[in-house]
Amino acid sequence: MLGYVGIEAVLDQLKIKAMKMGFEFNIMVVGQSGLGKSTMVNTLFKSKIWNCTPLDLGQGPVPQTLQLHSVTHVIEEKGVKLKLTVTDTPGFGDQINNDKCLRPLDIEFLQRLCRTVNVVPVIARADSLTIEERENFRQRIQHNLKTHCIDVYPQKCFDEDINDRILNSKIRDRIPFAVVGADQEHLVNGRCVLGRKTKWGIIEVENMAHCEFPLLRDLLIRSHLQDLKDITHNVHYENYRVCRLNQSHM
Ligand code: GDP
Ligand code: MG
Repeated sequence: MLGYVGIEAVLDQLKIKAMKMGFEFNIMVVGQSGLGKSTMVNTLFKSKIWNCTPLDLGQGPVPQTLQLHSVTHVIEEKGVKLKLTVTDTPGFGDQINNDKCLRPLDIEFLQRLCRTVNVVPVIARADSLTIEERENFRQRIQHNLKTHCIDVYPQKCFDEDINDRILNSKIRDRIPFAVVGADQEHLVNGRCVLGRKTKWGIIEVENMAHCEFPLLRDLLIRSHLQDLKDITHNVHYENYRVCRLNQSHM
């Protein structure tokens, strides 16, 4: 082939380098107290993709979170290393008197947050809602996000081609995912599952018939991990940097 150099070899180099260096990813969980944030952090770490390296996260009830707290674990699958750090936070709004004003507080908070980081909203404790209530709540939230110009992840303006648009539109329709958190394992039909024990049976966090935790996990650490990092780096961090530079010149 005339003029053929073989530049695709760069792909192998990138792969070797990525395998050697591994990937890093940081997630922060925010929201009102008692919603299940700390439990969700444990659920993420305990769920099946890293069952191969059993983690001792302790047993018993999760204590109330009083300060920022980060947990890091290195997860390895087929030679690919992911250093995942999840930061748990105390409930926002806990320190102020927010009687009757929590919804405006949520909106104000999200409006600012989505300009600084990628926001992935979830409906927590979805086991306390019927399927119908979940759908109504989801639609109400989608409507509120739109009305108040809260541009959550995956943002339409960053879809790069038709494939992104098709895949991300499906995600945008399902956001916020209705999730259930649990850090206890139970035996169901001979299988060990993460779930919540109720009068009616076990609610399994990894069962799509029970909740959408698998969609959240897949989005965060499988299908969109690199995209989340790219937008954080190229858009959010760049905006922050420009803003700080402008401030320092004033
Ligand atoms: P945080 O204050 O947001 O960190 O909430 P925690 O994780 O400490 O959870 C508060 C309480 O809610 C605990 O008793 C948890 O067991 C319970 N909880 C957490 N996630 C869920 C869930 O998905 N469903 C139900 N029903 N309870 C949950
Ligand atoms: Mg907590």
